[in-house]
Amino acid sequence: MFAFWSFIHSIEAFFIYYYPNAVYLNSIKYSHNKVKVALGESKANNSVLETNLQIQTPIFKADNYMLVTGILAMALCTIVLITSLPIIRKKYYEVFYYIHHLFIGIVIATILHAGIPKFRIVAIIIYCLHKLINIISIKKYSNKEIYIRRISENSIMLQLPRKKKTVEKYTQFNPEFGKYIFLCCPQISKFQWHAFDLSGTKSDNINYDTLIISTKGRWTNKLHQMLVKEKLLRPNGSPGFTLLTTRHFHSAHSYILENDVVILVAGGVGISPMIPIIDEYLSDSSSKNSNYKSKKIYLIWICRDLSLVSLVAETVSKYYTSDIINNFSIKVYYTGKTVIYDLNFQVLTIFQNQHIAQTYAHKPDIYKVYTEIIKKYEKSTNVGVCSVGSKELTSYTKAMSVKWGRENGMCFRMNYYKASLM
Ligand SMILES: Cc1cc2nc3c(=O)[nH]c(=O)nc-3n(C[C@H](O)[C@H](O)[C@H](O)COP(=O)(O)OP(=O)(O)OC[C@H]3O[C@@H](n4cnc5c(N)ncnc54)[C@H](O)[C@@H]3O)c2cc1C
Repeated sequence: MFAFWSFIHSIEAFFIYYYPNAVYLNSIKYSHNKVKVALGESKANNSVLETNLQIQTPIFKADNYMLVTGILAMALCTIVLITSLPIIRKKYYEVFYYIHHLFIGIVIATILHAGIPKFRIVAIIIYCLHKLINIISIKKYSNKEIYIRRISENSIMLQLPRKKKTVEKYTQFNPEFGKYIFLCCPQISKFQWHAFDLSGTKSDNINYDTLIISTKGRWTNKLHQMLVKEKLLRPNGSPGFTLLTTRHFHSAHSYILENDVVILVAGGVGISPMIPIIDEYLSDSSSKNSNYKSKKIYLIWICRDLSLVSLVAETVSKYYTSDIINNFSIKVYYTGKTVIYDLNFQVLTIFQNQHIAQTYAHKPDIYKVYTEIIKKYEKSTNVGVCSVGSKELTSYTKAMSVKWGRENGMCFRMNYYKASLM
């Protein structure tokens, strides 16, 4: 947006610089007419008009100094913009990272160009404070401190012991779910910080930050290779790697349990942030003073790999002997390439034959699923939908939520929380 308006501003400035007469002429015409109207056609004698013409000044004057500083700011902005395009950012992240620091030059050039209004000083102070908090809350883990569990061919679970820094006491808020951190592995790249949701249950979270990491592109593949090969296959002789983490950041879906009915839609590793939500809700329901008003959680999970299902089963298994388990239901939509003939049997076995799971071997029709779930409830129910996964999935889920809300909005209220894994 900044670049767009700067571009429009530059075109306007060039126009004024090279065609100043266009602006002066308009100004004179306007003044001429005004005088005529004010004094009446007959009274508007030449001397009055001439005086008026002399005191006319252009609305805006583009001098050489402004032009040079403006061109400088715009040129830097264009370079930053081009190197931020996904095609360059993804292939040459370091180039993107270094060049992005030209933003300091943009700020200086803009100040020289247009001065420094108070709001800009406030914005710069807030930015610097934010960066400072981020830097001082970075935590370092050696390979010996990290617990690694391989979940499937493409996914691993990392557990990093919680190290609370003083700054976090003032920047962290409850609840304990709906959070993510950024992870850096200096051995792969010093500048790449990738986002990962915290996935642990309440009891894990006291001691660990738990992450589930799936391979996607270059960075996650390198991390897998390094962690799996060096830590699992050569636990004692590993050359030693370090991981850096930031403080916790909050996602919008940390408010999902404020709704009467909760529908969680996860795609693949998008299950990771759903686990703490389910755990928080079930453990809260089993306590005497319940904090949340939600009646039930429905998990709709589209996955190509069934091995992650066991993570959900581990989370809910504590409640198998209690009625609370009826407040949870899971629909697994298996879309993997390998055909699984006994899909229902396999999933039911993982959930120890609890009738909380339903399985399908195709993609879901989300609109139909919403109808099936929501129509069971009385009118005026607040429905919270949270979707985490690929951009296609989250966009589709959002479109269906808007459509469903529009068509049934008089009876039910749909609140949508989206989190794309990009
Ligand atoms: C809020 C949030 C939560 C997430 N939670 C999870 C989770 O729990 N589990 C999970 O598996 N995935 C999660 N993801 C997705 C995860 O961050 C990406 O899968 C990962 O960043 C992909 O990196 P890549 O290099 O392997 O893949 P690619 O998509 O191929 O990235 C290509 C290249 O782009 C550059 N790049 C892209 N993004 C970044 C970045 N943020 N920092 C630095 N360089 C970048 C790098 O050069 C990178 O190698 C989450 C994403 C977000 C935004």
